[in-house]
Amino acid sequence: MVVEFVKCPTCKQKLAILEYVSTGTLVVCANRKCDTSLRITGRKPARVELVPEPETLQAEYRPASYG
Ligand SMILES: [Zn+2]
Repeated sequence: MVVEFVKCPTCKQKLAILEYVSTGTLVVCANRKCDTSLRITGRKPARVELVPEPETLQAEYRPASYG
């Protein structure tokens, strides 16, 4: 399994993004206390940006957390 790691911009949680999760996918921070919605904006290396609240319900993937 190939993963890339990004840090949540809000809580600095290290998140594992699986290889098949493509650019533009909405994800939710794996830190349940944070729950920030993020969009994958790039791969190799993986990058994420914060998503405005109204889009939150469309999140389709919760990455694994590390550290
Ligand atoms: Zn977070």
